[in-house]
Amino acid sequence: MNLFWFRRDLRIEDNAGLYHALKSGPTQCMFIFDETILSKLDDKQDPRVEFIHQEITKIKEELQELGSSLKVYHGDPIEIWKDLSNENKLKSVFFNRDYEPSAIKRDQRVYDILKEKNISCKAFKDQVIFDRKEIMKSDGTPYKVFTPYSKTWRDKLNDFYLKSYPTEKYLSNLLKNEDSKLPSLNDIGFEKTDLDFPNRKWSKENLEDYKKNRDYPWKNGTSKLSLHLRFGTISIRTLARDMLDISDTFISELIWRDFYQMVIYHFPESEEMAIKEKYRRIDWRNNEEEFEKWCQGKTGYPIVDAGMRELNETGYMHNRVRMVVASFLCKHLLIDWKWGERYFAKKLLDYDLAANVGGWQWAFGGGLDAAPYFRIFNPTSQQEKFDKDLKYIKKWVPEYETSKYPDPIVDHKKARERCLEVFKAALN
Ligand code: FAD
Repeated sequence: MNLFWFRRDLRIEDNAGLYHALKSGPTQCMFIFDETILSKLDDKQDPRVEFIHQEITKIKEELQELGSSLKVYHGDPIEIWKDLSNENKLKSVFFNRDYEPSAIKRDQRVYDILKEKNISCKAFKDQVIFDRKEIMKSDGTPYKVFTPYSKTWRDKLNDFYLKSYPTEKYLSNLLKNEDSKLPSLNDIGFEKTDLDFPNRKWSKENLEDYKKNRDYPWKNGTSKLSLHLRFGTISIRTLARDMLDISDTFISELIWRDFYQMVIYHFPESEEMAIKEKYRRIDWRNNEEEFEKWCQGKTGYPIVDAGMRELNETGYMHNRVRMVVASFLCKHLLIDWKWGERYFAKKLLDYDLAANVGGWQWAFGGGLDAAPYFRIFNPTSQQEKFDKDLKYIKKWVPEYETSKYPDPIVDHKKARERCLEVFKAALN
């Protein structure tokens, strides 16, 4: 018997690892609510957990309709795999690759446990178009600059990499068995939220003008698919195939996504520190009161405040605004990028370590191919450029332009000069 382990690939269709498992023989599907991750979440109304639970329920129902089941566990995956490895019938375990440092460690331990019992363990590429080592420089080392990475990515792309894995061909290999119990959200220690999740369907027509619209936070100009790409509730291959003739700029964003997954794999230390060593020496001010104001959207800079309030209320923030608030925290307030990265990790529905660390290190300058340190977004001109009629700002900061709205927490010009001084001191 094979076991297929769902992780960040929560769908049956076009799922690489599931396809290979089913093709090779009788397969049982499974999922683990990982207590080592869940126990670290402070808010017991965490919409990401609710979303996963909802998607797992759907998969379970789909499998039941096919006469099979989804075995759902709750606990420490290492302990669970130790138990499972004692099952006589188990021959092979299949899953899709995850590039986060902690996931790599976990998977290595699972691999070792299984190997000891002569159970094979097979990992596949599924969540990216190109895997961690598929786009490398000619000398075999990873790219450190996006543009040449992106060029090689585009040159290498052909139908082979975008082909769907037709799991439907082999669904008859799903093990036929009785339904098994799914723990409720409460059973795993969480509660429902009243948040609406973005739709997983995309319309090619809506994204035709992506290049023109995507930078304006008041427009419905982007796909809002990040949550679904994060948890694999849509297939990256299907999306990329669809968008190839519609928007080259959109494909570029998917390349950034692959780029950051590649970066976290080759530079795992970037989870904790700037990739560029000199940027580890910045003398952050780390003022806790100012950080709190930033978190709450009360800095007196309306585009920053609108973004933070959108994040706090919906779990989403527009990309342009993510860049502005991140730059503001690290450069205007001189607060450690890790504080901001951790706050986003708590709040973002689409939170993904690779993209988040990539985005933050880009914003403060310490990452690969990042914004130069002297490029300091002026929040007021960003607002004038991307929300000149205040549509976005008025939606999230209704008291703007009234006496209730706070004065700016720092003066832009002074903060800019202070930032340049502190960064220069670190980088010299
Ligand atoms: P679209 O514009 O429709 O883009 C399509 C898809 O491409 C997105 O869904 C996403 O999967 C991918 N994508 C787009 N831009 C980027 C990018 N710059 N880097 C990597 N992938 C990208 N994205 C996350 O998915 N998770 C995060 O935790 C995350 N944190 C970020 C933190 C900062 C400081 C910054 C500046 C950006 C971050 N991003 C993150 C990238 C980007 O902001 C979001 O992917 C995007 O806003 C999601 O909205 P969308 O689905 O409408 O994107």
